[in-house]
Amino acid sequence: MTDCKKIADLIFSDVDKSTEYYEELYPARNLPEGARVTRFAPSPTGYLHFGGLYAGFASKLTADTTGGVFMLRIEDTDKKREVEDGVTGIVQGLRAFGVAPDEGVTSFKTEYGEYGPYTQSHRREIYRAFAKKLMEEGKAYPCFCTPEDLDDIRAKQENEDIKGYYGSYAKCRDLTDEEIIEKVNNGVPFTVRLRSVGDISRKIKFEDMIKGKIEMSENVNDVVVLKADGIPTYHFAHAVDDHLMRTTHVVRGDEWIASIPVHIELFRALGNKPLKYAHIAPIMKEENGSKRKLSKRKDPEANVSYYIEKGYPEAAVKEYMLTILNSNFEEWRKANKTEDISKFPFNLKKMSVSGALFDMVKFNDVSKNVISVMTAKEVYKLVTDWAMDYNEVLYALLSEDKDKATAIFNIDRDNPKPRKDIACWEEVENYVSFFYNEIYDADYALPEHLNKEDAIEILAKYKDVYSKDDSKEEWFNKIKELCTDCGFTPNVKEYKQNPDAFKGHVGDVSTVIRIAITSRTNTPDLYYILQILGADEVMRRIDDAINSYKA
Ligand code: GLU
Repeated sequence: MTDCKKIADLIFSDVDKSTEYYEELYPARNLPEGARVTRFAPSPTGYLHFGGLYAGFASKLTADTTGGVFMLRIEDTDKKREVEDGVTGIVQGLRAFGVAPDEGVTSFKTEYGEYGPYTQSHRREIYRAFAKKLMEEGKAYPCFCTPEDLDDIRAKQENEDIKGYYGSYAKCRDLTDEEIIEKVNNGVPFTVRLRSVGDISRKIKFEDMIKGKIEMSENVNDVVVLKADGIPTYHFAHAVDDHLMRTTHVVRGDEWIASIPVHIELFRALGNKPLKYAHIAPIMKEENGSKRKLSKRKDPEANVSYYIEKGYPEAAVKEYMLTILNSNFEEWRKANKTEDISKFPFNLKKMSVSGALFDMVKFNDVSKNVISVMTAKEVYKLVTDWAMDYNEVLYALLSEDKDKATAIFNIDRDNPKPRKDIACWEEVENYVSFFYNEIYDADYALPEHLNKEDAIEILAKYKDVYSKDDSKEEWFNKIKELCTDCGFTPNVKEYKQNPDAFKGHVGDVSTVIRIAITSRTNTPDLYYILQILGADEVMRRIDDAINSYKA
């Protein structure tokens, strides 16, 4: 190729804008010193993976903690692998867990921001302008090799260390202008390749913000920048987009580390400064003593919609993500119990080099903690919002009597040690079921050490003393008196010292009452449960339990 300009004009006859035009259209951002511009750039080829949400969150935190901008760019250059509703799933998943972008794609048809379009398939003419520039400068050339030619090269390279289109394998690198013109005019399909200036014996060194210093050989491959259909490859789109969108930090999966030499060469060829990179190791899971990647195929919790469907609150998911994102988060949380997580000084450098460990048990514990310190009103709102989509029956019950539902969620909440019963909203139906006869199936089975005769006596006597107007103290005093009346002791210690002298202790007596009212041995504060159910229902349930023991 000698007259590069002529060849570029021929190949890119459709391009009517210069790269300068785009440089002006997307000027440097006016942000304070140190502000980082980041992006999450998924391909809509499947559901949003938890690892994607996690990487997106790391990207967002990087921008947020520096007063920068976080973008969502959709990388849809591979139309064959695209799935229906892929973009919607990504947008909804990010939004559900507070990782919504400041700028970029906001739904499958809308976007927001000055640096768009943010969907790669809408940026075709931009890529072509930049590819044309490379060709004009002799840094790119058309390649007419067929898939069979490329298969041939691959076969020949089987035993070579360096694979790809380079050196003597790069057949189209030195075609004459005449040859190119003839092929183009004859409609022979072609790709556009970078004319690599790399040297395998030279090293590139760079500092990854997570992995530290990395040294790799330069790229020598004449990589494809535009495919035969004129669509850019991922590599080229990355170099063009992250430059024009004025990205400063690329936070992405570490499967892309191997491509760094190509990316650095592309940035140089385009005359742009390479960006800062932070490569995240995949999230791991422990199974039978060994670690493996959190897997789309094996783990339902790898899919972000799992957390939406089960109703994990946004705050819980973020709290857990931070727990595994930064090793010092838990310590910070201990010292700042009620602080909003936006105050946490997130740091890319504190991310795991080998891959954070995902643990669903821990996840549930974190979520229970987060939910336990919410107000009853908050819980009510979040549960009903969730139930509206996922549990019609629960939604109707909770909405019918908001005060009752809020009172239920309020039990034991204003406590220095609140109960931690609920990990996700899906569990609420079971948690509240005994408050609603519509979903309550009574089961008065007693633990083995309690018998029906004693239970009947306790319940019958309890009926006589129960009053809905009792204060909590009065109520508990009555339970203690009841113990003595029925041959139990109100004093657990006393029972332990002399078990043969009593039928049991106060715990057993309350268990009998608890089971009659709730069918459970463990519930939040029974006094408040009785208050919410009301005297009539309490009496009815006690009668029902007595009858079942008599039957
Ligand atoms: N589309 C690429 C992916 O889904 C993005 C990689 C990047 O963030 O640069 O893996």
